[in-house]
Amino acid sequence: MLDKFNRNINYLRISVTDRCNLRCKYCMPESGIKLLDHKDILTYDEITEVVKTGVKLGINKVRITGGEPLVRKNIVELISMIWNVEGVKDLSMTTNATYLADFAEALKNAGLQRVNISLDTLDPESYKLLTRGGNIKYVFEGIEAAKKAGLTPVKINCVVWNSSQEKDAKAVAKFCKENELQVRFIHQMNLSTGEFSIVEGGDGGNCAKCNRLRLTANGKIKPCLFNDLEFDVRELGAEEAFNQAIIKKPKAGTYNKSGSFFNIGG
Ligand code: SF4
Repeated sequence: MLDKFNRNINYLRISVTDRCNLRCKYCMPESGIKLLDHKDILTYDEITEVVKTGVKLGINKVRITGGEPLVRKNIVELISMIWNVEGVKDLSMTTNATYLADFAEALKNAGLQRVNISLDTLDPESYKLLTRGGNIKYVFEGIEAAKKAGLTPVKINCVVWNSSQEKDAKAVAKFCKENELQVRFIHQMNLSTGEFSIVEGGDGGNCAKCNRLRLTANGKIKPCLFNDLEFDVRELGAEEAFNQAIIKKPKAGTYNKSGSFFNIGG
């Protein structure tokens, strides 16, 4: 489906939960977060219906995000439900990989094709500080499990403060080169002030070529990450919510005062 700027919108990023087992400093506030009520979170049947409607309108690429998608119960079931929607050609997931070693094989068998894994440093102490308590050992195990299961290419999302020439970023880049992983550098973003830039090595943040919509865990279709517009699939129905999002998709991002990365899924 083309928006009014002639961009082909074929990509739906689905946040399946606002919950996460980590507390990364650039994502989760120190003071903790007000979690969504379970009744407000879309069921797997509802998500699958949204995907079916999206496919009819031109969506063929789906990414599962969070929070951390692997903390949602029976997530493998959802992957299978989405992969069985005729017309979905590309199904991927963004994960912090701390649970991936337990799920990789089952996710692959259910239809997941590839994963993006968050890793901003190779240093266990820095990782622990950055994630407020995470153990980097599980990420390395998750990466190995993803490669073994064939969830490839495995891409590494490395958040940088200012540049990909920072010490940690260079170490991650070297690690990726040595381990057949593809690195992408994501510069720090600020939703409320509208600070963002194009992902180095990826296509996020390039408004002129933007092909994406987002579905939040509580059922809002967002035409743009850096905008407050959202359309409720439970209130409007999925088709009307998609249509509104396409018609009102902005030319470029500005700022987003109402959302957070942990409940939109980046
Ligand atoms: S800021 Fe909005 S328009 Fe720009 S790339 Fe991101 S989602 Fe697309």
